[in-house]
Amino acid sequence: MSFTADCLLLFGATGDLAQRMLLPSLCALDADDLVAPDLRIVGTARQPLDDEGYRAFAREALEKFLPEDRQPAIEGFLQRLYYQPLDANETGHFADLAAKVGPTEQGLSIFLSTAPSLFGPTIAGLVASGLAGENVRIGLEKPLGTDLGTSRLINDAVSAAFPEDRIFRIDHYLGKETVQNLLALRFANLLFEPLWNAAHIDHVQITVGETVGLEGRVGFYDGAGALRDMVQNHMLQLLALVAMEPPSNFNATAVRDEKVKVLRSLRVVGRDEAVTGQYRAGAIGGKAVPGYDEELGKDSDTETFVAIKAHVDNWRWQGVPFYLRTGKRLYKRVTEIVVQFRPVPHSIFAGRGARSQPNKLIIGIQPEENVSLSLMAKVPGLDRGGLRLREVPLDIAMDDAFAGPKNRIAYERLLLDLIEGDQTLFVRRDEVEAQWEWIDAIRESWGEHGITPKSYTAGSWGPSAAIALAERDGVTWHE
Ligand code: NAP
Repeated sequence: MSFTADCLLLFGATGDLAQRMLLPSLCALDADDLVAPDLRIVGTARQPLDDEGYRAFAREALEKFLPEDRQPAIEGFLQRLYYQPLDANETGHFADLAAKVGPTEQGLSIFLSTAPSLFGPTIAGLVASGLAGENVRIGLEKPLGTDLGTSRLINDAVSAAFPEDRIFRIDHYLGKETVQNLLALRFANLLFEPLWNAAHIDHVQITVGETVGLEGRVGFYDGAGALRDMVQNHMLQLLALVAMEPPSNFNATAVRDEKVKVLRSLRVVGRDEAVTGQYRAGAIGGKAVPGYDEELGKDSDTETFVAIKAHVDNWRWQGVPFYLRTGKRLYKRVTEIVVQFRPVPHSIFAGRGARSQPNKLIIGIQPEENVSLSLMAKVPGLDRGGLRLREVPLDIAMDDAFAGPKNRIAYERLLLDLIEGDQTLFVRRDEVEAQWEWIDAIRESWGEHGITPKSYTAGSWGPSAAIALAERDGVTWHE
């Protein structure tokens, strides 16, 4: 349904995500006149604040988290903010919230930045107070459940009040510029698509490395682990974008139709195709850091690392492994996709003693956003001692190539799409469920075979078994 909301209702308005990401993103959009002048933002949480109190709260967060050059925009932005205290478990509180929001005929976008356990009561309250009508859409933060069953419960609760075309499930990786650029690279160039298949690609690697440990997410993370926190959502979305067939259009239905086909084609992971790990004390950037158990304050079997050899069972990808690897307290913070092409079928230079390496496409997502294609080139010279070839990178650093346009954080894009109603970069229910189905099977297999995480030293690249997982196939992780 196409309408631009004139009110954004933000649940969890005093939370960590609101302070670090949502308020700064909204302020940046406002500073660049990307939201309508009459857009009102109503925040809600239990904290007993009035409008002025919330503006003071937001000012503090913005002064802390907004880049220096954006700070002059703060005062103007604060005038858009309103606040209504509410306990989401108290249906009776929603009448006052509805009064604060006012009529919804002009369009209301709601963002639930609260624990998923509050989604059910929140939706009941929205329905009871008339805040779930035709011109209302709803955005949901992850985690959407802890397995297929709980995710279905959440999805059922939401879809009892909102049709799918008004539900916006957020995976903030989809708001990242380079992730969208992956689609431009694949589908706005003739160059790659004819080679983008099992005949020419040897394997794909997707790495999401973090250097941080628990970072105050103790309660949440220990109940989740790396597989559910990272692979279930972000990494499978990246895999789907790499592997999907060309959609006929860059719109929500066409893109999501193609992604879900990939997710449903994922082969059940074999017992020897996954490695889990948990960090022990070590050093990151020369600084000593404690082990996971010490940070947690108790023993735990939660995995802080996982490496998986995945397969997409369809015509295009038969025989091409997708190696996925993510972990906390790894050697460096990096998110990247590496597409390793096959070697040339015959090297005309072999007789001259020159060796050539297969091409590699590296898509850097964070911290740097860049695309690099490794090509073979002749080392300059008269070659009296033999011809030499060397790998040279063809680099596109996005910051340099596009010095003009501002580099926007993912939530700016996603909040704007939520306000304007574009679902292309949001995850559809069938995608989430296909993701959970695959993840649940991995966890069941771990349970059946009594697999517990192997130790790895903080500051390394994970347990040695993860290196062996790739090395067995003659593959080296890109580092
Ligand atoms: P948080 O810091 O714990 O904030 C939770 C928010 O919910 C607060 O504003 C809290 O305010 C409000 N709240 C709690 N109980 C409530 C109730 N009964 N009724 C109404 N409001 C209530 O959590 P967060 O880090 O902002 O995360 C929010 C959601 O986003 C979570 O589901 C989280 O998993 C997800 N997420 C967070 C991040 C991140 O980087 N932080 C990243 C990805 C996803 P009061 O206590 O005043 O009520």
